[in-house]
Amino acid sequence: MSAFTLELTPAHHELVRRTHAFAQDVVRPAAARYDAAEECPWEIVDRAAQEGFYNALFYADLIADPTGLSLPLFLEEMFWGCAGIGLTVVLPALALSALNQAGTPEQVARWAPEMFGEPGDIKLAALAVSEPQGGSDVANLQTRARKDGGDWVLDGDKIWIGNGGIADVTIVNAVVDPELGTKGQAMFVVPKDTPGMEQVRRLRKLGHRASHTAELSFRECRIPADNLLGGEDKLEHKLDKARRGEGKPAALGTFEQTRPMVAAMALGVARASFEYACAYAREREAFGGPILDNQGIAFPLADLAADIDAARLLCWRASWMAANGVPFRLGEGSMSKLKASEVAVRAAEQAVQTCGGWGYVDDLPVEKWYRDAKLYTIFEGTSEIQRLVIGRSLGDPEATATPLHHHLPGDHGGLSRKFGHGSLARARAGETFLRLAKKAPESVLRLGGRLAAPGA
Ligand SMILES: Cc1cc2nc3c(=O)[nH]c(=O)nc-3n(C[C@H](O)[C@H](O)[C@H](O)COP(=O)(O)OP(=O)(O)OC[C@H]3O[C@@H](n4cnc5c(N)ncnc54)[C@H](O)[C@@H]3O)c2cc1C
Repeated sequence: MSAFTLELTPAHHELVRRTHAFAQDVVRPAAARYDAAEECPWEIVDRAAQEGFYNALFYADLIADPTGLSLPLFLEEMFWGCAGIGLTVVLPALALSALNQAGTPEQVARWAPEMFGEPGDIKLAALAVSEPQGGSDVANLQTRARKDGGDWVLDGDKIWIGNGGIADVTIVNAVVDPELGTKGQAMFVVPKDTPGMEQVRRLRKLGHRASHTAELSFRECRIPADNLLGGEDKLEHKLDKARRGEGKPAALGTFEQTRPMVAAMALGVARASFEYACAYAREREAFGGPILDNQGIAFPLADLAADIDAARLLCWRASWMAANGVPFRLGEGSMSKLKASEVAVRAAEQAVQTCGGWGYVDDLPVEKWYRDAKLYTIFEGTSEIQRLVIGRSLGDPEATATPLHHHLPGDHGGLSRKFGHGSLARARAGETFLRLAKKAPESVLRLGGRLAAPGA
């Protein structure tokens, strides 16, 4: 297990530098155009592929970083550029994450390249879970999958699906045994143009307009048995266990791991808004001085400076936990998403307020960030659902009896426990040394003082 650290490696710095340059030079200049046109930014996705930011191996590499920091660092920079374009660039990675978790190695090798394509021949992927009658209550999905001969047949409706209807690969969550709630569900791969899968309509949105979002229908949508992720033996085993009342619902654990990633996206928008507001407040003058000189402007920005950093620390901790397989006992993934999404909404709102009338028109980018930010309190679990997850963990007296960091793995080295900073043995040894040193000549006394000083 890797220790949690805030120290970025040279590779982290290089990733941030490359992504920031791409976000600044390629994404930002195109953001307003794709937002206004509400079009999928194919050209920018192709540029991302050329830069190596759009392929399955890139994400495998980021996920494999034991510090957990590579993925949030990348996402924050990309979404700093534009949330809508950023979402289009990373949507296949969300589908890939489902494929990795549920699929066999053969299925991953078969479908992962189809989700991204390559420069000059870009492909898209989608993850279809939410349904018109409700997205929060994932135990109540209605889309059914039934076995028919050598095929699976899907029937139902999905909505809010990013890249829905234009994706080359759509991963669809469907109910196999309705009696078993989330444990009776399975994931299926539906390739583009499969008969029975239709785009019902494209959805017009408040923000994230460069990302294509659609409603899909599945009517007698027939796919080969091989497209069941994980295969039939694994599904039967899972269903048998669930019927015997064994096994835990996988969905929460899975969501806890992906929520810090959404937190990082929200942080990108929060930081963009905050930076813009600060720069504007330094330049803009009213009543004979920069508006930043007024506490009415500076104090909300000061609160944001602290809250954005706090949210980032929660995000990095949760991401480190996901990378190291540390159990999310207290909804730490949900905490990161809750705080980052809500600070993004507040930062964008404050940016509009700081810019006054100019913040309300599209001459400045802040009105777009204001529209974009709101999504983070809704998708991948609304703020209420994050509170529900955290709230449920409060029912476990053992989990809440001590501060959160007590539940994190520590250094098990016996020597460090006995003689490390703050240990009783170290305190006693120090006292003894100082007692003896008092009787010693001045040079030894000086050495004792130096040893006892902080940082020794
Ligand atoms: C732009 C966009 C893109 C999206 N992309 C995808 C995608 O690619 N794939 C996908 O599968 N889904 C996607 N979603 C769906 C998203 O995850 C859902 O919208 C979200 O989970 C909420 O579901 P819902 O809209 O049905 O709201 P509902 O579940 O109907 O909730 C409505 C309100 O009730 C509250 N609520 C519900 N239950 C409780 C409770 N127990 N306690 C307190 N409050 C509660 C909710 O917080 C919310 O405020 C996307 C959504 C949007 C808007």
